[in-house]
Amino acid sequence: MRAEIIAVGTELLLGQTVNTNATYLSQGLAELGIDVYFQTVVGDNDTRIRQAIELARSRADLILFTGGLGPTLDDLTKDALAAYLGKAIHIHEPSMVKIETMFASRGIHMVESNRRQANIIEGSDALMNDAGLAVGNAMSVNGTHYVLLPGPPREMKPMFDGPAKAWLRSILGEERKLYSRLLKFAGIGESSLEQAIIDLIEQQSDPTIAPYAKEGEVAIRISTKALSEQEASVRLDQTEERIKERVGKHLFAREDIPLEEAVLRLLRESGRKLASAESLTGGLLAQLITNIPGSSGEFLGGVVTYTNLMKHKLLSIPMSQLEGPGAPGAISESTASLMAERVRELTGSDFGVSLTGVAGPSESEGKPVGLVYFGIAEQGKPTIVHTAELSGSRGIIRVRAAKAVLYRLWQ
Ligand code: ATP
Ligand code: MG
Repeated sequence: MRAEIIAVGTELLLGQTVNTNATYLSQGLAELGIDVYFQTVVGDNDTRIRQAIELARSRADLILFTGGLGPTLDDLTKDALAAYLGKAIHIHEPSMVKIETMFASRGIHMVESNRRQANIIEGSDALMNDAGLAVGNAMSVNGTHYVLLPGPPREMKPMFDGPAKAWLRSILGEERKLYSRLLKFAGIGESSLEQAIIDLIEQQSDPTIAPYAKEGEVAIRISTKALSEQEASVRLDQTEERIKERVGKHLFAREDIPLEEAVLRLLRESGRKLASAESLTGGLLAQLITNIPGSSGEFLGGVVTYTNLMKHKLLSIPMSQLEGPGAPGAISESTASLMAERVRELTGSDFGVSLTGVAGPSESEGKPVGLVYFGIAEQGKPTIVHTAELSGSRGIIRVRAAKAVLYRLWQ
């Protein structure tokens, strides 16, 4: 937004008064992020004030006036602007009451011209004057914003800092809205993701790129301030493309959905069903999936075979596979494979997935905390087992293990 300050007052042109208001307003506008392109001074003359308005309108979106709101005949700002815009002048009742009360309480006779201080331009917002009698004005007409403030600094400063700034903030808010887009990634840690795009994060001020981690998934929020949704989406698309060039293969959603929902959508599209057999996660995978409404369409169910006995009884895995001298053990590639295959066969699903590993806090079967095997058995295909070495607390390892299976399914 480009602004112009018009200080009205012949005393300024004569050099009798220093134009400190312009300095004060320029500083305040800069703080709001508004660029001041011109400061103009014009005398108390109707024609020349209108000329100044005409010129300012051609080169600024915001015109701030100071001076000429008082009661005397040389206070012309409101009348000149109203005439320029072809608008009528109204009485602002609360200000009129304030003026009348003030005169009555002091027992002074009020002359007619004092009423002029309660004038506001038709269609404008009144800016209350806590330090004086002249009411300020703010309005937007045909894309140009006008703010009228009094001349005396002790009135102008509080009016600008209070009601005028609030009005300007609302205008700025209206003009440039914040648009953002969420990109969700899996199969990559927060720091690796950040590292892959660190130069983009550091370069950009708009759109901004903010990565954050949440429950085994990482997300990037890209945000931009734009005048329209269309303008925003062009900018967000550009930034998204640059991110995708680096880490696109991990991007599973362009909205705020969890990985399990993305997986369910894929299964739905291909008309396939899923079942699970969980050990270290104790049903967490099934819980994540069934948190999604309508998941029964794709998720048939799962078993929690936490002990070796249950792996044997429910999934018919031989005890000799699970324990005893020379047995691969429950936490092994072959057990993960068997669990996935058996649950698939048992339920008749297209995919059977399994999870077995060490959630901690201490090792198990001589295997380290965080070691996880997960199997994916697909009808008509060889079963695949993945190994992961996860870090974190017991709870975090369990979440990460469940998300790791989901990520492989999504792939
Ligand atoms: P009033 O009700 O006092 O007439 P007004 O809003 O009409 O207020 P002016 O008549 O233009 O304002 O100015 C009143 C006084 O305010 C001036 O004599 C001067 O002392 C001070 N003043 C006006 N403009 C400025 C300015 N730009 N910078 C500093 N002081 C100013
Ligand atoms: Mg005056």
